[in-house]
Amino acid sequence: MQSIVFATGNPHKVLEANAALGGAFAIIGLKDIGCPEDLPEDQPTLEGNALQKARYVHRHFQVNCFSEDTGLEVDALEGAPGVYSARFAGPAKDPEANMALLLEKLKGQENRRARFRTVIALILDEEEHLFEGAVEGRIAYRKTGENGFGYDPIFIPEGSSRSFAEMSTAEKNTISHRARAVAKLRSFLLERAARP
Ligand code: IMP
Repeated sequence: MQSIVFATGNPHKVLEANAALGGAFAIIGLKDIGCPEDLPEDQPTLEGNALQKARYVHRHFQVNCFSEDTGLEVDALEGAPGVYSARFAGPAKDPEANMALLLEKLKGQENRRARFRTVIALILDEEEHLFEGAVEGRIAYRKTGENGFGYDPIFIPEGSSRSFAEMSTAEKNTISHRARAVAKLRSFLLERAARP
């Protein structure tokens, strides 16, 4: 079976990707190829960051690979925190501080529209491909729920009255940005694997 490197240092993401994409391809992590896990990621867009990480791995290891980058884009903040979502409140990457800062910046703001957006960059047989998944929603006025991670307690997806943190992982995965991007990657890889 052909393997594809997922350019992430997070073993949970590798497991998740194997569950979603396994069958036609084996998904392996950076550790498996002896690549440092702290890849350069300093571009101003999600697309730029995803491509930067995939190109780094491809250039140094000559393997098929993909990488992803995700951000929360808030309309009233002109798309912020976006590509800076993880370190919105500082380098500590503290989700509680990030949520507190976001709620503070939206104080008195009625336009709460926001979306999570994931971009996946794939380099397969020397060609680059981008896949995007997004989920529209709004920023709540206060945190609710205990599940998930990051901004989940204050993000309410469109059509729901509950935050992502009030949903089970399975429920979140039926509509999430990441799941939608991965579904596109999956269709593409399955179609490629079926080619003679
Ligand atoms: P990453 O690109 O997956 O590392 O995501 C960057 C940052 O976006 C994370 O540190 C979180 O703050 C936020 N984020 C990404 N995906 C989610 C999600 O599904 N729920 C809540 N926050 C998320």
